[in-house]
Amino acid sequence: MRDVVVAANWKMHTTPADAGELARTIASRTREPGVTRVICPPYVCLAAVGAALADADPDVAVGAQNIHHELAGAFTGEIAAPMLEGLATWVIVGHSERRRDAAETDELIGRKLGRATDAGLRPILCVGEQLSERETGRATDVVDAQLRGALAGHDPVEMTAHGLVIAYEPVWAIGTGRNATGADAAAMAETIRASLSTLGWADGADVVPILYGGSVTSANIGAFLAEPSIDGALVGGASLKPDEMAGIVARAAITARARGLAG
Ligand code: PEP
Repeated sequence: MRDVVVAANWKMHTTPADAGELARTIASRTREPGVTRVICPPYVCLAAVGAALADADPDVAVGAQNIHHELAGAFTGEIAAPMLEGLATWVIVGHSERRRDAAETDELIGRKLGRATDAGLRPILCVGEQLSERETGRATDVVDAQLRGALAGHDPVEMTAHGLVIAYEPVWAIGTGRNATGADAAAMAETIRASLSTLGWADGADVVPILYGGSVTSANIGAFLAEPSIDGALVGGASLKPDEMAGIVARAAITARARGLAG
C-alpha cells in the first residue's frame, strides 16, 4: 500500500532563529498515525529544524528544496546531494519555481534525481503544466514529457526502492489560491501512472505515491484525498501555518486509516 505523505515546502521563508520553533509546533500539532510528514525548510534552517524535530518528534522527516546536479565543483552558491548527509533525508526535485527561475530542464532534473538517490535521499519529483497548456488541451502531454525527460535512464526498480514520490503541481495553482479540482488531480494521477507503466514501472500504478500540490489548505485537502489515486499533498503557503498543517494532516490520517496504514 502506498504511503500517505504530507510534505511542507517552506520555500524562502523562516530563519535559523525561528525555524526550529515552527517545526516543533507543527510536529506537536500533526502527530497522527499512518501519515508520513516531511518538512522542507531553506538550507540554512535544515540543522535547526532537524535538531528541533529530533527532540520534539523524530517521526517527522526533514527535506531539502533542491540539490545540484553535480557532486562537487565550481558552482558558487550551490549545494550537492552528499552535503546533506545528517541534515536531510528527502529532497524536492524539479519544483516549478526552479524550472521557471533557474531554467531547470527535464534532463537536468533527471540528473538531480540520480544524485538524490545515490545520496540516499528520498526524492519528490514535481511535474505540472502551465495554464496556457491546460487551456489548449496539452496538460497530459506536458506532464508525460516531463516524466519521460526526468526519468529517462533511471532504473524503475532502483527509483522505487529509493521511495520515489511524484508531486503533480499545476503551475497555475501554485501560490495563487486557485486549486485544481479533486477530479482534475485524480485524472492526472492516472495519466502519471500510465506514463510510469510505459517507462518500465510494471506495477507503477500501485507503488509510487502521487501527491497533489497547488494552494492546498485544510479546507480543500479533503477533495484531493477523497480520490483513491491521490496519496497526499505538497503544501507551500499553508505549511507555514500550524493550524493549517494540523487540519491537513488530520484529514490525511483519515485516508491513512481507511487504507489500513495507521497501525
Ligand atoms: C509548492 O510550493 O509546492 C506549493 C504547492 O505551494 P502553494 O501550496 O503555496 O501553492
